Amino acid sequence: MTIQMAPTDVPSGPRKVAGPREPQPDCPFCPRLVSFREENRAKFPDWFNAPVPSFGPADVELLIVGLAPGLKGANRTGRPFTGDFAGVLLYETLLRYGLASGTYAERPDDGLVLTGCMITNSVRCVPPQNKPLPDEIAACRVFLSGVLADMPNLRAVLALGRIAFDTVIRAAGLKPSQFKFGHGEAVDIAKGLKLFGSYHCSRYNTNTGRLTPEMFHGVFDKIAAHLGRSGQDARTE
Ligand code: SF4
Repeated sequence: MTIQMAPTDVPSGPRKVAGPREPQPDCPFCPRLVSFREENRAKFPDWFNAPVPSFGPADVELLIVGLAPGLKGANRTGRPFTGDFAGVLLYETLLRYGLASGTYAERPDDGLVLTGCMITNSVRCVPPQNKPLPDEIAACRVFLSGVLADMPNLRAVLALGRIAFDTVIRAAGLKPSQFKFGHGEAVDIAKGLKLFGSYHCSRYNTNTGRLTPEMFHGVFDKIAAHLGRSGQDARTE
């Protein structure tokens, strides 16, 4: 595993950055996303249609950061990656590595419990065409900073995709230009805290073969090694 060190002294880290962890259901910060939210509330009144909260316990060592809720996935169900195509590979992998227990059935009431990680998104509201704008990513970063600050045992962050990777770096008070994103690569962003990069487990990436399940599992092998866990031996199948 290539570990890229921060070019200057590694800071004491995001744990010192205070901030709210979860947005209010009517968070007003991103006008375009607020309009889209209102449109979706009118069109799909039974859906969640609000900023999707983080999922999982805060006292774990691993945080997984995605990009944004999918319209018919997390925006519909209210749980990150739940009902999204990307959630299938992600939750199967978490179960395989002993980071979750139960069964993933693409519903927020499926009883799945995260036991070894928390999941959150860089942008909490669903963006049109799955594409948040830079200002929206910047506005929502305050909540990611809040999550990072609220995880006292955090030792690893997994960023799904380049945007999430850069957002975590900024949330940690560092500059993305000083770090290189790579699938399976890790960088130090604070003392004892590594940021791992992975291609996003999106439908596009998995259908095109850019990301295979084996490649995705490879990143979790590296995280497990960093955390001193037994990796896929923890699976229950
Ligand atoms: S994306 Fe984040 S900052 Fe923007 S409105 Fe939604 S919760 Fe608020």
